[in-house]
Amino acid sequence: MGREEEMQAISEEIRECKKCGLWKTRKTPVVGGGSLDAKIMLVGEAPGYNEDQQGKPFVGRAGKVLDELLALVGLERNDVYIANVLKCRPPNNRNPMPEEIKACTPCLDRQIGIIKPETICPMGNFAAAYILEKFGLKPESIGRIHGRIFRVKNLLLDARIIPLYHPASATYNPNMKSTLMGDFRSIKGE
Ligand code: URA
Ligand code: SF4
Repeated sequence: MGREEEMQAISEEIRECKKCGLWKTRKTPVVGGGSLDAKIMLVGEAPGYNEDQQGKPFVGRAGKVLDELLALVGLERNDVYIANVLKCRPPNNRNPMPEEIKACTPCLDRQIGIIKPETICPMGNFAAAYILEKFGLKPESIGRIHGRIFRVKNLLLDARIIPLYHPASATYNPNMKSTLMGDFRSIKGE
């Protein structure tokens, strides 16, 4: 199976998925978006209201911040691949529950396997904890580790992990925006 077909297969599975209770309240699952050839993969937490309506990642207010941050370092949506830890929206945007993360993340793992990014940026505490633990690293709060570069290497992947604050944090805390801008520059090595 080619990479396009593999991603298509994942997408079809997600559309029918009932592996956790979130299928009951979702409108549209959000598989992810961007280029399969991306060198940078961004990992968010879960769809919010707008994403659930449209079936696309980061199309609401946090998405606007994300687009500004990408533009700052000369990137567009199609230069990266964006996915989330959870593919379905938790009611009222509550935090993901451990059993939901466990049920859903095999899909994220497969997406990482298809993209094989050079850089993975988990955004926010839940994504950072999942990605760091997956590569045998100890998760710490995003406030302590944002912008740090962790090198990981295993049979499948040779990559850098750079945890970031979630772009939504900049929608209610303006100081976060400049921190995020600095961290985005470090992704590009500027
Ligand atoms: N927040 C996320 O974590 N992911 C989205 O897709 C949108 C908002
Ligand atoms: Fe399936 Fe993930 Fe949606 Fe749960 S959140 S129903 S595991 S796709």
